[in-house]
Amino acid sequence: DPGCPLVVVANRLPFSLKKNPTTGVLERQQSASGLVTVAPMVVEKKGLWVGWSGTYKEDTPLVIPEAKPDDKSPSAGLKSHQVIPLNCEKKLFDKYYTGCCKTTFWPLFHSMPDRAVFQADMWEAYRSVNEEFARLTVEAIKREVAANPKTVPLVWLHDYHVMLAPGYIRAACEELGISIKLAFFLHIPFPPWDIMRLFPWDDELLQGILACDSIGFNIDDYCLNFIDCCKRQLGCRVDRHLMLVESYRHTVGIHKLPISIPYERFNKLATEASQIIRHNSDEQLVLAVDTFDYIKGLRHRLRALETLFEKHPEHIEHVTFLQVAVPSYGDVKDYQELKEDLDRMIGNLNGRFSTPNWSPIRYIFGYISQEQLASYYRESSVCCVTPLRDGMNLVAKEFVACQVKEPGVLILSPFAGAGVTMLESLLVNPYNTREFAETMHRALTMSHDERELRMKQLRRRESENDVNYWLKSFLKSVDCLIDNQEQTE
Ligand code: UDP
Repeated sequence: DPGCPLVVVANRLPFSLKKNPTTGVLERQQSASGLVTVAPMVVEKKGLWVGWSGTYKEDTPLVIPEAKPDDKSPSAGLKSHQVIPLNCEKKLFDKYYTGCCKTTFWPLFHSMPDRAVFQADMWEAYRSVNEEFARLTVEAIKREVAANPKTVPLVWLHDYHVMLAPGYIRAACEELGISIKLAFFLHIPFPPWDIMRLFPWDDELLQGILACDSIGFNIDDYCLNFIDCCKRQLGCRVDRHLMLVESYRHTVGIHKLPISIPYERFNKLATEASQIIRHNSDEQLVLAVDTFDYIKGLRHRLRALETLFEKHPEHIEHVTFLQVAVPSYGDVKDYQELKEDLDRMIGNLNGRFSTPNWSPIRYIFGYISQEQLASYYRESSVCCVTPLRDGMNLVAKEFVACQVKEPGVLILSPFAGAGVTMLESLLVNPYNTREFAETMHRALTMSHDERELRMKQLRRRESENDVNYWLKSFLKSVDCLIDNQEQTE
């Protein structure tokens, strides 16, 4: 569809750039972000991607390399001319990213305001970097429109890093007389108003997002929280049933668009993966895969595991817990504390329960490829996805897609977006240690028939509502909008 070029704007590109240690040349590296699944759509629509390159202005001049011939990642088809890298000074970027994104918005949006830092200089850095994202986007749009004056570019902004950019892009395009469509999707939760209003510059933030025509969230609750903030903070007229917000110049459609995974890809990876994990036939594996973050409830899970071995010692030597934790970006104090806590807790637990031939916990602090993860998922009897709060959580869905052999059991927190629909899992409040331990016991001792019944239903739902369905629903939500506008004009 050449009439509607797609421009994706996100903090990160769908790959990161690393210098090859021997040649010194920049190369693309696969990224673990769920956003990567948007890349095939940008490839298909011959669109553009604006994002941070992983390098800084003071580094060597930036040239985006083409994908290598053996690159099988979803972004491999993205040509370098489709990539518009944001490149700013490290000092500014750190204040924006580690500062405002990671120590203000991340905890605030996950309803953990005590961890949130509100600092004017961080907010100013956030503004500056968002202006830069907007400037790059508008330059790209100008080129598109110059080449094809009838075109109406669709700009799709992603996540909490770029919430002011829509306002800047809208203002610049209005001044230039360029028509565009602006859409935003938030991957993390949107908090209730009484949390959001703690942020000192909340009006400006909400107005930035409201410059869009269409705004998407993972679940109904986040949509309703946003609508509530617009009403109570900005005094907008809203319609909770039709999910519309009236901004002073246009009507904004709010959409529930639950993100998902490339189900078939994981199903296939799991079918083809070789067995990496060695374990005895009478040994059950409990798996957890998380990005290393305090929202994931890692401490709470270890407490439940300890209670499990205390209350049900029959699992000693028969159950092994495998925790995979991918180190998070950003030099955040809370992450260092979590690292120390977890090292200590795992050491204590292993010291307390290990026998000469068995330890209760295996702990991988590092990145595992999805090919390997598929094998871990397939071999596990139980997968614990128990965040304290999480926008969606794709691990829950990947585990289900990989259950191609003996059906396993998913333990899920109702505080993850995934917990709203994946109701055949065992739902448990991660703060309730005893119940959590009993849920693990129940999962480990569940009959084959019950596991099969639950997993069949989970797999059916996830295979139908995969990432392609999400992408299609997004396009539909933007199209609906065009129809509505045409009707009212
Ligand atoms: N992941 C990975 N390697 C790892 C651990 C995780 O590739 O070692 C991927 C995982 O497959 C999933 C993503 O990282 O697609 C994590 O997404 P999720 O929504 O669960 O958490 P987020 O990090 O977005 O909060």
